[in-house]
Amino acid sequence: MKIMKFGGSSVADASRIKSVADIVLSKAENEETGPVVVVSAMKGVTDILLSAAAAAESGDNLYKKLILDLKQKHHQAVKALVSDNSIGVTLLIKIDAILDELAEILHGVELVKECSPRTGDLISGFGERLSSLLTSAHINNRGVPCEAVDAREIIRTDDAHGRAAVDFKTSGELIRKRIVTGSGNTPIYIVTGFIASTSQGVATTLGRNGSDYTASILGAALDADSVEIWTDVDGILTADPRIVPEAWVIDEISFQEAMELSFFGAEVIHPFTLRPVIEKNLPVFIKNTMNPSAPGTRIARNAAPKDRPITGIASVDDVSMITIEGGGMVGMPGIASRIFASVARTGANIIMITQASSEHSVCLVCRREEALIAAEGLEKDLSDTLHSGIIRSIRLNDGLEIVAVIGENMQGQPGLSGKLFSALGDTGVNILAIAQGSTELNISFVIKGDDKNTAITAIHRAFLSQRPRG
Ligand code: ASP
Ligand code: MG
Repeated sequence: MKIMKFGGSSVADASRIKSVADIVLSKAENEETGPVVVVSAMKGVTDILLSAAAAAESGDNLYKKLILDLKQKHHQAVKALVSDNSIGVTLLIKIDAILDELAEILHGVELVKECSPRTGDLISGFGERLSSLLTSAHINNRGVPCEAVDAREIIRTDDAHGRAAVDFKTSGELIRKRIVTGSGNTPIYIVTGFIASTSQGVATTLGRNGSDYTASILGAALDADSVEIWTDVDGILTADPRIVPEAWVIDEISFQEAMELSFFGAEVIHPFTLRPVIEKNLPVFIKNTMNPSAPGTRIARNAAPKDRPITGIASVDDVSMITIEGGGMVGMPGIASRIFASVARTGANIIMITQASSEHSVCLVCRREEALIAAEGLEKDLSDTLHSGIIRSIRLNDGLEIVAVIGENMQGQPGLSGKLFSALGDTGVNILAIAQGSTELNISFVIKGDDKNTAITAIHRAFLSQRPRG
């Protein structure tokens, strides 16, 4: 049995949803059971919901118009997707009830002039509830038994709203109880991506783009054969094609490499997605809804070895670097732990760390807004060391970019970083900091944001210009 996840662009409108149903039904014909399908909200809907919440919070009537827009969008899709009168009427009643509920919640937000993270999670998950009903009704309309499942019933999380942590044990039990596959006449299940709930039944979300993660949670719980992430590109590319037009699709990639690429901003897959499937050793395929016959990218433990040192290049935009500098830190145990504890207290996520062996300086790289808060926290928490001169300064540099070069074949390859940095040097790109993990899977470096395109193009030319045959 397969898990098939379709992202927002794959269910963007009625004609896209028809293509999704074509793909799902052709799989259903060829296999004994399943598939289990996960859908995102129709493209743009989650953003509209968040805008509506923000408008309501600030007392702006715009939210009412946004609800009407959503109603029109979904009604239009029903008209195009459902010809059977009784299926259509039932569906419209359900859609309208959901949108009425949304209107009431938003009205509440308007009255109290506050949208807490908890309420934000409740509101942002409405899109998936609508798209799953729409997709399942369309498949029913084509004469195939199909059932929409609200993932709040089956995925349990803590209450960290905005990016809740999954309770895998309880979720696994709930998923296996609700989604029964294996016998020939089970329906096709269309599960909402992105949303979940706490043990108290409070709605949560798995973070933006979290539907990929929903798919892998289901895959692991149901012991699926594979998880397919259907999107609008042919697979994971060697680099962002907006920067490197000659970038090409990687046919096979290891779990570790794919995790590194997604962590460093490759947008095809949510960074958490691979955690549940790695343990179960389930392969993940990235496929294109607009081009279903393309082979896509296979992510698996036993990915075929490559004959090139680098697998792909990713980058993170708009980061800032905090540099903590001072001769007094040399050989002083405990200073690093104070630095990291202070950053952790602010909730900022550190993407990259470097420390010169002299211990004269420690650099931390975070997204811009988080770096700002982290730097403020450090000034406060380390004020004693600033006064005593142990630390001379805490500096913040904005407008930077992290570029990460990723590949398992970099392990034990002497001369590789030489080639990498001379390719960059030849184009005049200045490097502000470098980090390499001891697994040698990833070399990341910080440059000025303006140098991003030059740097990525130069590395691609140096290492990835030879597209493999086959
Ligand atoms: N609809 C959610 C979002 O836009 C989740 C997803 O698409 O995966 O973030
Ligand atoms: Mg996505």
